[in-house]
Amino acid sequence: MTVRGLFSSKASASAQPYGMPRIAVVGRGFSGMMTAIALMRTVMTPFHLQLFDPDSRVSGGQALASGHSSEILNSRVRDLSVSAGDPDDFNDWLCSNADFRAAVPAAIPGFLQIFVPKSIFSDYVYQRFSEALSSRRDITVQVSNEPVIGVSRSHGGRWLVKSAGATNPLFDTVILATGYGLGNRSESPVDQAVEPTAVRARRLVSRPHTVLLGSGLRVVDRLLQMRDSGYTGQITIISKHGFLPQSHTRISADPVFPSETMPTRLSEIVRFIRKACQDAEAEGQNWQSVMNGLRKHARSLWRSLPAHEKQQFNRHLRALYDSHRNRLPEALHLRLKRELAEGNTLLRRGEVIRQTPTGLVFKQAGQVGEETIYADQVLDCRCQAPDLGTPLMRSLIDGGLAGPDELGLGLAVTAIGELSANGRMTDGLFAIGPVGLGSLPDIDLVPEIVTQSYAAAESIASRFYPRCKAV
Ligand SMILES: Cc1cc2nc3c(=O)[nH]c(=O)nc-3n(C[C@H](O)[C@H](O)[C@H](O)COP(=O)(O)OP(=O)(O)OC[C@H]3O[C@@H](n4cnc5c(N)ncnc54)[C@H](O)[C@@H]3O)c2cc1C
Repeated sequence: MTVRGLFSSKASASAQPYGMPRIAVVGRGFSGMMTAIALMRTVMTPFHLQLFDPDSRVSGGQALASGHSSEILNSRVRDLSVSAGDPDDFNDWLCSNADFRAAVPAAIPGFLQIFVPKSIFSDYVYQRFSEALSSRRDITVQVSNEPVIGVSRSHGGRWLVKSAGATNPLFDTVILATGYGLGNRSESPVDQAVEPTAVRARRLVSRPHTVLLGSGLRVVDRLLQMRDSGYTGQITIISKHGFLPQSHTRISADPVFPSETMPTRLSEIVRFIRKACQDAEAEGQNWQSVMNGLRKHARSLWRSLPAHEKQQFNRHLRALYDSHRNRLPEALHLRLKRELAEGNTLLRRGEVIRQTPTGLVFKQAGQVGEETIYADQVLDCRCQAPDLGTPLMRSLIDGGLAGPDELGLGLAVTAIGELSANGRMTDGLFAIGPVGLGSLPDIDLVPEIVTQSYAAAESIASRFYPRCKAV
C-alpha cells in the first residue's frame, strides 16, 4: 500500500483504539505538514492525527509546492532541513536523489550552498512525512478536506473542532497551522494573495500592460514567470515603499553582529544596525552577514520594544527589513535588475487609491495629485496578514481561548506555539507558523517553523502524554 493509501478521509472514532489521544492539525501547508512530521517523530505514544484542509493536496506545503519548475526558493539548501539537530538532512536527501544528481552534477558532492526549485523542496518534505508515517504503525492519520470553522472547549475540557459538513469526535490537542488563511488562495499555489481582476483596457494602452501590486518575493516570482512564459508587454510594479528584495551573496554569509550592547529605542537600533553594516563592508565582509546575525537577536529585540515602537516599525521599517531578509539568489536578482534597467518593467512607489474597470487610480509617493494607470490586468501579489475575522479565528477570540497579538497582525503565541488569551496560556491549543508573526519575527520562514514545530511537539509529548516521552 502506498503511504497515501494509509490515509482515510472517513476514519471514525470507533476505528481508533479506545483511549488513543487525538490531535487535530488545522492546515496542510508547510507548517501543518512540518508539525505532523515533528509529532510523528517526537510523541512516542500511539495517537490519532487528523489533518484538516479544504485544499485536497497532501504535499510538502502548498505555498512551496510550485507548479512552475522555474520558481526557486530564496533559502539555501543548508537552511531547509526538516530534521531537528541535522542541518544536512535536505542535502543528504538531494545527494541520494539520482535524478537531481544527474541534473545538477556541478555541485556534487554537496548541495548545501545552492538554491533549488520549490517543487523539489516540497517532494523532500512529503517524503519525510511519508517515512515518518510508515515508521509509526501505532498511529492513525486521517485527512479531512473541509475547512475548520470553529474550535471550542467541551464540558470535559477536550476540544470540539467544527468543520464544515462533518461532525468530529473530540480532540485532546489542536494545532492551528492556517498560515495566511483560506481567502487568499488563487489559481496559483504560489501567489496566494493574487486575485487577477482581468480588466480589459486594450483600447486605452498602446501595448499589453500588466500591473503587479506588492514588492516581495511573490511579485518577483510573478514577474519572472510572466517573462519566462513569453509575455513581452509592459509591467509596472506598484509598491507602497518601493523596496524590492535584495540579493544574497554568492556563498552563504555567516552571521556576524557587534558585541556591544544594543540600544533599546527603535531609532537608535536602526542607526546601530546601519553602522554595523557599514563597518562589516569596510572590513571586507558584507551587510548580508549582519542581517543574518540580526535574525538571531530579532526575537529578544522585538520583545523589548514598547507597543508604539512596534507599530512604528511596522508602518515605516518592515518593508525595508523584509527586502533585506527575504533575499533573492544572485542570478535572480541580476535578472530583476536587468528587467528594471531595460525599462520594460517599471517600479513605482506610491499607493493605489482604487481599482477601475480599465486599471487603477494611483498616487505617487511625494506627489499631491492622482493619476490613472491603464492596464489589461492588475495582479495583487501583496502578502496579507493572517485574517483574524474568519469564523475559526472569531471562535477562538470570542471564546476567550486565543487573543490577537499587540499589533493585531495575528494571534498571540509563545515561542513553542502556545496560544494565550488575556495573559493566560490555553492548555492543549497551539498555533504554528505565520499566524504568530505579530509575536515572533521571522516565524514565516522555514527554519523558524521547523524549530517551533519540534518545540510544540516536545511540549505536547511531555505535558499531555508524559508516559512515553519523546526519544
Ligand atoms: C513565494 C514564496 C516563497 C517563499 N520562499 C521561502 C524560502 O525560500 N525560504 C523560507 O524559509 N520561506 C519561504 N517562504 C515562506 C514560507 O515558506 C511560508 O511562510 C510557509 O510556507 C507558510 O506555510 P503555512 O503552512 O504556515 O501557510 P500556508 O502555506 O498559507 O498554508 C496554510 C494552509 O492552511 C489552510 N487553512 C487555512 N485556514 C484553514 C481552515 N480554517 N481550515 C482548514 N484549513 C485551513 C489553507 O488552505 C492552507 O493550505 C516563501 C513563501 C512564498 C509565498
